[in-house]
Amino acid sequence: MNKSYDKNNIFAKILRSEIPCQKVLENDHALAFSDINPQSPIHILIIPKKAYLNFHDFTQNASIKEIELLWKLVSEVIKLKKISKKGFRIISNSGDDGNQDVPHFHVHLLGGKNLGRMMNL
Ligand code: 5GP
Repeated sequence: MNKSYDKNNIFAKILRSEIPCQKVLENDHALAFSDINPQSPIHILIIPKKAYLNFHDFTQNASIKEIELLWKLVSEVIKLKKISKKGFRIISNSGDDGNQDVPHFHVHLLGGKNLGRMMNL
């Protein structure tokens, strides 16, 4: 675990059931739940159950099994929501430049409409 991980971040509290979430699916190593402020008709967050700060921390320090089950859960949610054909977007914000708000690694899965171009650079 990264030393700067804050055990009191909101997703850590969700994992400890200290605050509720609208659960979509879970497996041994990952949890999927609806984003509280959806940016598209389907907006689901997928997080590892163990404490990882961001994408880099997760991919550097998680076990292969954890990594496998995180991405398997993303895939299961895509199947459950029937968006594999129409499409979707996967985003993971990281750090200051990525404007990451919650310091527990998470994947945003967005879909249910045409999402437009990714960025207006
Ligand atoms: P980030 O900017 O860190 O990539 O995204 C954090 C996401 O977490 C945001 O989309 C925000 O709406 C969502 N979020 C923040 N607090 C809560 C919460 O208490 N419950 C749920 N379900 N989502 C949250």
